[in-house]
Amino acid sequence: MPETAPERTAAADASAETDQSVDRRFGVFSVIVLVIGVAAAALMSWWLPLHPSTGQIGTGLLLVLAFLVVEQVSVNIDVRGGISWTISFTEIPLAIGLFVAPFQVVLAAHLIAGVGTLLARRVQDRVLYNTGAEILEITNAFAVYTVAGMIIQGTGPQWIAAYLGAISAPITSTLLALAAVHVLGRRLRVGAATKLVFRTLVLGLVNASVGVVGYEVATNVDHGLPLVLATLGGVWALYLAYSGLLREQRDLEALSEVSLIVARSGRRAAARPAAGQDTASAIKSDDWHGVAQRIRDQLGAARVVLRLRFDPQAPMHTVVAGQELPAGVVDIDTAGAKADGLLRLPGSHVRHFRRVDSLPEIRQALIQRNAHEALVVPLRSASHLLGVVEAHDKLSRWRGFGQADLRMIGTTASHLATALDNRRLLATLRHDAYHDPLTGLHNRPGFRQLATEMLASNPGSVMLRVDLEVQPAISDALGYAWSDRITIAAGRRLRDALGPDTPLARLEGGAFAALLVDADLERAQVAAEKLVAGLSAPYPVDRLTVEAGVVVGYSSSAMPDGVLFSDAPGGRAGTPTELDVDELLKRADVALRAAKTSGERVRAYMPSMGQIFLRRFQLVTQFRQALETGQVSVHYQPKVALPRREVLGVEALVRWRHPEFGDLHPDEFVPAVEAAGLVDALTEFVLDRALIRIRKWLDRGLRIGVAVNLSVRSLADLEFPTRVSAALERYRVPPELLTLELTESGVMADPQRALPVLRALHNLAVVLAVDDFGTGYSSLAYLRQLPVDEVKIDKSFVFGMGSDLGDLAVVRSIVELGHSLGLVVVAEGVEEDAARDQLAAMGCDVAQGYLISRPLSEERLEAWLQARTAMAKNVRDETVLTLLS
Ligand code: C2E
Ligand code: CA
Ligand code: CA
Repeated sequence: MPETAPERTAAADASAETDQSVDRRFGVFSVIVLVIGVAAAALMSWWLPLHPSTGQIGTGLLLVLAFLVVEQVSVNIDVRGGISWTISFTEIPLAIGLFVAPFQVVLAAHLIAGVGTLLARRVQDRVLYNTGAEILEITNAFAVYTVAGMIIQGTGPQWIAAYLGAISAPITSTLLALAAVHVLGRRLRVGAATKLVFRTLVLGLVNASVGVVGYEVATNVDHGLPLVLATLGGVWALYLAYSGLLREQRDLEALSEVSLIVARSGRRAAARPAAGQDTASAIKSDDWHGVAQRIRDQLGAARVVLRLRFDPQAPMHTVVAGQELPAGVVDIDTAGAKADGLLRLPGSHVRHFRRVDSLPEIRQALIQRNAHEALVVPLRSASHLLGVVEAHDKLSRWRGFGQADLRMIGTTASHLATALDNRRLLATLRHDAYHDPLTGLHNRPGFRQLATEMLASNPGSVMLRVDLEVQPAISDALGYAWSDRITIAAGRRLRDALGPDTPLARLEGGAFAALLVDADLERAQVAAEKLVAGLSAPYPVDRLTVEAGVVVGYSSSAMPDGVLFSDAPGGRAGTPTELDVDELLKRADVALRAAKTSGERVRAYMPSMGQIFLRRFQLVTQFRQALETGQVSVHYQPKVALPRREVLGVEALVRWRHPEFGDLHPDEFVPAVEAAGLVDALTEFVLDRALIRIRKWLDRGLRIGVAVNLSVRSLADLEFPTRVSAALERYRVPPELLTLELTESGVMADPQRALPVLRALHNLAVVLAVDDFGTGYSSLAYLRQLPVDEVKIDKSFVFGMGSDLGDLAVVRSIVELGHSLGLVVVAEGVEEDAARDQLAAMGCDVAQGYLISRPLSEERLEAWLQARTAMAKNVRDETVLTLLS
């Protein structure tokens, strides 16, 4: 028998009707049904007057009992869209009643059983409607039975009339239910309505048959009653099993649908790596509504409320399916939840509350929700509360929520929680995969994805590369945690300066990247300068303030290679090629390196830089071959002792005569060769040449040393000292004639790592010199802990000595401190007499520079040496002559 229940406008319903007006209409409808029912019953009673007899009381009581029994064993089978279909067996006692009792008795018995059950189950709000419906059912059944009986009289068996009468009852109630659905303003598809009527009819037929056959057998067959009861039991059990199966199947369907909604929603969210927010809130609210709606459908509840805790501080986000929720209990905050009878103790499994048998505070909470009963279940992940699911009021004429409903909502909630938990886990994993743990900014893959996305919709964007250089000496002195703290602070400053929506990443170390969406070069330049200013401001570290160097390079996606020439009159505008994030990053990187080389703070990418990049690439790939084909040679720059200027040695400086590019400066190709990991070959080559040179001089009785420049990489190579020692032996060169020069920044980059190699070299008794001293940040005192013998004052200070008192002071203090530490002090870049004289006056030991000689090829060095010794001889001869004279 179909049931309908009042349901106010579903949230998804387009109808704009308010709750009250629907309520009122349903009330009026119920009254009309009741009035018609009573009128029809009165009419019937007048037509079939009652002739009271004592037997009727017994029969009546038996019927009440029978109706009560069938109400209790009715099987709730399907709930969809507010129509629940209950397999009830009302037609069985009704069919029997038609045979054995007058109209009034059957009606009374049915009403007592039906309304009694309703009241017992405390489903008060539909009593009017249901009473009217029951009266109409019975009245119609008797009308059909009586009329059919009159027609059949004499021509056929009487049971046909009972049969038809019994069937008319469920048809009546179905039609009423459809009318009620209509009154409630809810649509039921014609197909669904037809199916409902058909099912009711089939069930009515079966029940009527059982009733009629049962009555006939019970009255006409010897000992027929047990047989009838056994059959009834069998039919009931069959229904029960069938409905159980159906319910399980539908519960499973609902479960998988709910999981599917969450999963689908998750897939959509996964498309955006940027989504770093909480999982639950990442699910679209439409999807949440879908989940609530599905649970409501499955339970046949008047309303399902999902309360989701996205943020422990904020009110729980509320999604409602079904009847509107009174405003006071939407979006309850933490304090509200503590005060709310239903939410106060979320527990861990389903709880079932009813107004009638609850504590006052729970009753209060139900009244606030305008609900008579509620199922409440928390959404719990392993560690915390994700939310709460509430289901209010069963849409059923008779019953409230049952065991199956509790099971269903419990399982659904745990599936939902698991799905959310999985998503949270996935989101965490995804977040970690796309973010830098130190600064919380994106990492390179995350940035690449996000920037690619932004670039697709904003073709005119600018890529910024920002390098923060915390001096290694600072890291060293303060420990790595401090340089990490500076990096974190820099990340924060960048984020503050660029705003929350600009894609921003820490690529590695102090390297950051950002994409300025919809920016032109002018804006980028302004932004870059502001960043430099912001990041260069000192970083407070404990009681110190630390400064960091900042350089920015940028490249525009709207500036493809050809665009520079597009302004030229008649010039063809460069066809914009698609620049992807990697290409933009590479270009910004090239610009950054160009800025570093030229000592600027900010530089834009220029296509010519790309050429330089390309050239570097070519140089690196051609270098080995250049070594073998004699393009690479070694020049020598003499070093003289001060103040007497005798030649002490030379510095070996590499030269590359490139067939295409001409003479190349080591400053151009050595860093590239180093970066490509080919510098060992270079060092070996120069070392060989140098030792051969010394050997030749030794063979001629000259003791002239050679200095060879080393790369930082050699300092990390534990085999390097062994190779040096082997080379010394091979050419039979005394170690003190070989000087190895290491740049200050190279040694200081990682002194602990350099130390073992330095010690081993020192033990070979070669001379160790620290090159370019003064440009780094190391103190001489620190140098003392390293086994070095010589310090070379960087040429920039020597150049500036004449004009800049600061430079002069630096040179003087290096000479003095160097001496106090027992080091030989060398000045390079000596271009003028004045400088040489000043250095000599300070006590600087050795001078090197264009004043003495430019770097010379081997032959020219020989010529220079000869001229020098000849001159010295002449001078000496002259002196002798003078002395003699
Ligand atoms: P460096 O070791 O500081 O070498 C001194 C540089 O200063 C040389 O430039 C030299 O020509 C230049 N110089 C010397 N005196 C004067 C002067 O009075 N005025 C001016 N303006 N410049 C002067 P070069 O030969 O271009 O070498 C540049 C750098 O390339 C070197 O700097 C060194 O760091 C690197 N390098 C050169 N040869 C080698 C090598 O064989 N191996 C490695 N690893 N690096 C090398
Ligand atoms: Ca050098
Ligand atoms: Ca130098």
